[in-house]
Amino acid sequence: RSNAEKFEFQAEVSRLMDILINSLYSNKDIFLRELISNASDALDKIRFLSLTDKEVLGEGDNTKLEIQIKLDKENKILSIRDRGVGMTKEDLIKNLGTIAKSGTSAFVEKMQTGGDLNLIGQFGVGFYSVYLVADYVEVISKHNDDKQYVWDSKADGAFAISEDTYNEPLGRGTEIRLHLREEAGEYLEESKLKELVKKYSEFINFPIYLWATKEVDVEVPAEDDDSSDEEEKPESTEGEEKEDEDDKEEDEEKPKTKTIKEKTYEWERLNDVKAIWLRSPKEVTDEEYTKFYHSLAKDFGDEKPMAWSHFNAEGDVEFKAVLFVPPKAPADLYESYYNSNKSNLKLYVRRVFISDEFDELLPKYLSFLLGLVDSDTLPLNVSREMLQQHGSLKTIKKKLIRKALDMIRKLAEEDPDEIHDQDKKEVEESKENDEKRGQYAKFWNEFGKSVKLGIIEDATNRNRLAKLLRFETTTSDGKLTSLDQYISRMKSGQKDIFYITGSSKEQLEKSPFLERLKKKNLEVIFFTDPVDEYLMQYLMDYEDKKFQNVSKEGLKLGKDSKDKEVKESFKELTKWWKETLASENVDDVKISNRLADTPCVVVTSKYGWSANMERIMQSQTL
Ligand code: ADP
Ligand code: MG
Repeated sequence: RSNAEKFEFQAEVSRLMDILINSLYSNKDIFLRELISNASDALDKIRFLSLTDKEVLGEGDNTKLEIQIKLDKENKILSIRDRGVGMTKEDLIKNLGTIAKSGTSAFVEKMQTGGDLNLIGQFGVGFYSVYLVADYVEVISKHNDDKQYVWDSKADGAFAISEDTYNEPLGRGTEIRLHLREEAGEYLEESKLKELVKKYSEFINFPIYLWATKEVDVEVPAEDDDSSDEEEKPESTEGEEKEDEDDKEEDEEKPKTKTIKEKTYEWERLNDVKAIWLRSPKEVTDEEYTKFYHSLAKDFGDEKPMAWSHFNAEGDVEFKAVLFVPPKAPADLYESYYNSNKSNLKLYVRRVFISDEFDELLPKYLSFLLGLVDSDTLPLNVSREMLQQHGSLKTIKKKLIRKALDMIRKLAEEDPDEIHDQDKKEVEESKENDEKRGQYAKFWNEFGKSVKLGIIEDATNRNRLAKLLRFETTTSDGKLTSLDQYISRMKSGQKDIFYITGSSKEQLEKSPFLERLKKKNLEVIFFTDPVDEYLMQYLMDYEDKKFQNVSKEGLKLGKDSKDKEVKESFKELTKWWKETLASENVDDVKISNRLADTPCVVVTSKYGWSANMERIMQSQTL
């Protein structure tokens, strides 16, 4: 085109497109759900804008917030069009090629080491999946603030943009035209597109239409009839239903007609499922929840979410919500914990999508949850900033936390990490056998750290969270156990909950600090995660029991009758030790009954850092 401006793709984007266009990846279907998801995002945006300014929607067809799919078999073109917000010329340059999103290089890297293309949407580069099936793509777009433009590219490192003076005006929105590759012919089949929309885009909240063929019955004059009375034909069908006595005779004089099948086209709606969160939880099947989870997570694998909670909050603040525990924690969940506050919760107000970057709904430690909140109480026509300060948010947040913790507690109760009798032998034969472990062991492995961070950060729910805490102990035999279970096993006369911290269970098992406790059959908790040291600074007691680090001062294991005698006879030695070690090295030297075989041990003061904490701090400053 003569008026086209040429642009080069940002290098990372170009590499990504190379990978896609040369990909032998078998599941090319994913491009369609990425395009539909973008169309839906664009519709969400214009609807959101229209809350504060009705004018933006325009009039006539422009007000129809819908997605349309059309096939052109002859020219092998598949087009997807929306009446969303559209893109200005600048948007086209920015969004489709020149400014690489942070996800681009991460995704390229993943792809080079055999990552799953299916997850492209999670990295924010879903648009480019069009090059799995097309070798030439045109994006026609009209934004309210600009003229209509065409972006096009053959994935050869460059794209062009020109003002659109030849296509039909879109009014507003975007049309993506895919010039399909030879081998992608299946995407010109209506049945294939229907199947894909059903499979991947069922939960899109805007109508999706396909320009589909339809066979209709048409009455035409019978060929063998040379009836001259052609004008009567249209009326004759209308009159047929009335069995008028008077007309009966005339019937025989009517021209003979026959019914033939004729192919026409019409917009056929492909999705008509009512939004899951608006339905009653009793009516929604597990399979539907799983599919809904996949669409929220942009992960269409076959893993089920570990748990979900769907509820309807009533009272002063009304909202509906669905929360999911994903099957796996994202790799960077804790890496970015302190510098990002990414929420995975979508906020709707009265069915209108408002934001998926609304961090006020869940605390950081629950940011691993996915889900959706739809509130009837929040106001619709205010800015995001005003929403963020709205009083009901606090109530919503409080209820969401409660429900989330309830969901996790149920998971722990329903499927704890216990050996079922019939499996016992098998489990013992192979301790690694994860299949035989309860779901909660899996949860703990993926998200246990979040529970611990919650105990540290959320004083209000500290006790609820402490109930969810799991750990191994000197007697738990490789299984996870809880504080409640620990307490139920406490020996008579045992006042404190004993624990020890260190870098691994293997190392701790050899610790001299455990000698005496083992002899007395006292159970000791192993805390081996670096975060545990911080955790225990916040978790002082549980159900009126104090926590006692067995490597610290203050361990009381009951009095011995010979204590006094022993103390007296070693008085001189104790004194000598203290003088020899000098006060800058130790605070005190004492006779103790905490050991059994080892002659002496260094103990940390009650409020000082444990040896393990010293180790952690040292490794952090190095
Ligand atoms: P993501 O959707 O995660 O942002 P994509 O690669 O799918 O990543 O899309 C890139 C960007 O292109 C979008 O963020 C959006 O700004 C723009 N875009 C894509 N499709 C459309 C569309 N149909 N209407 C308006 N903007 C779109
Ligand atoms: Mg997208």
